[in-house]
Amino acid sequence: MKSITVAKFGGTSVADYAAMTNSAAVVGANPNTRLVVISACSGVTNILVELANGVSDGDKRQELLDKLTAIHFDILASLSENLAVANEVNALLDTVANLSLSAAKQPTDALTDKLVSCGELLSTHIFTHLMNDASMNAVRFDVRNVLRTDSQYGKAVPDVPAIYGLAQEKLRPLCENHIVVTQGFIGSDENGETTTLGRGGSDYSAALLAEAVDAGTLEIWTDVPGIYSTDPRVAPKASPIPEISFSEASEMANFGAKILHPATLIPAMRKQIPVFVGSSRTPTEGGTWIRQQAETSPVFRAVALRNNQTMVTLTSLNMFHAYGFLAEVFRILAKHKVSVDLITTSEVSVSLTLDQTNTRGGAPDLPDAAREELSELCRVKVEQGLSLIALIGNKMDENRGACSRIFCSLSEFNLQMICYGASAHNLCFLADESEARDIVRTLHTAIFE
Ligand code: ADP
Ligand code: ASP
Ligand code: MG
Repeated sequence: MKSITVAKFGGTSVADYAAMTNSAAVVGANPNTRLVVISACSGVTNILVELANGVSDGDKRQELLDKLTAIHFDILASLSENLAVANEVNALLDTVANLSLSAAKQPTDALTDKLVSCGELLSTHIFTHLMNDASMNAVRFDVRNVLRTDSQYGKAVPDVPAIYGLAQEKLRPLCENHIVVTQGFIGSDENGETTTLGRGGSDYSAALLAEAVDAGTLEIWTDVPGIYSTDPRVAPKASPIPEISFSEASEMANFGAKILHPATLIPAMRKQIPVFVGSSRTPTEGGTWIRQQAETSPVFRAVALRNNQTMVTLTSLNMFHAYGFLAEVFRILAKHKVSVDLITTSEVSVSLTLDQTNTRGGAPDLPDAAREELSELCRVKVEQGLSLIALIGNKMDENRGACSRIFCSLSEFNLQMICYGASAHNLCFLADESEARDIVRTLHTAIFE
């Protein structure tokens, strides 16, 4: 078989009948597309997360369940009748209702993953039916048969060698004669329990599967025609980037550009699989190619924004010219499984931000036990309501005047925890969440417009 293209469609690309029809046409236009990875219909995961967090008011719970029923049956109503699919959809909606009741009594991370996975299970049933209505020889595949992860519910870590073996055995042969439709975002641990890869994780699933079936290309179809110089919803003058390197795009994803889940490009980089990002609504408009090397490497490429930051500042006079203090801090953080993202230090204090996030969302917390243990060592201050803004580019450290352009344009704003120098690809800082979008727009105007 020729090299496979894996195509992933996000929530807005499967939001309703019209969106699903556009997405099916994108699949049909490329005979190499044999594996289709899809998200839950737009808005569905948010509703499921709300239910999973525990809605004890019965009326409110029913209102959310009715919304889910309406979203899915509105699409089914436009398709040819198919009792088996309608039964599957009803069975999944019953499962959601039962699990929501359990979550209202006692929400747990394992329950959350079971519940939110129903979004992708529902959308794949319907999308496969829609493709077959268009005579596309589609077959639905439960990704939990191959996407093996550990058991960290809400932020499960994939087992790459296991996924490769299982996909080669069970998934790749199916792609020979069918268009296989499968779920993004969800997986299962070695006991068969459902897990999820974290919000927005379908991009990452698609990349893991592309790697596991030895795909030649990965396509990410979404609601914008490619990666822009910043989120076009924040800065309307943002412009599309036709080609970008893996390292620049992964910095963007890592620093919060929602267009790609942060881990998406890791499998693509491991296997050198080129990635295309485009709009399923306007597929001929072009998009962004992400490759090992881009033809241009500008000093400034893009601005990214990530909300929900938690900054922890640890202060102790004992830190002054002492050895072992930071080692002790990180020993405590590691013991409590707290992952650190950014860090800056001064003589007697160290500030760090906590890594995002699990499926339930919100700003990450410093666990009470970690806070107590750290308090025996130093003063601990935790701040939330912050955003991280990152400027991404190339060889910033070698470019005289790069920093002054950035900071002169931001003289009106209060910036915290500026990180620069560890990578030539980015400069980033924290700011109050209420000012963050203004900062992105100001920076974008000063540098790109
Ligand atoms: P999907 O549901 O298809 O995964 P997402 O909503 O997760 O789509 O990602 C697409 C959104 O990412 C766009 O609508 C846009 O608002 C946002 N976004 C953030 N940064 C960028 C960027 N640099 N370029 C393009 N879109 C971006
Ligand atoms: N449906 C999941 C979410 O909304 C995964 C995804 O869309 O990528 O987070
Ligand atoms: Mg997404």
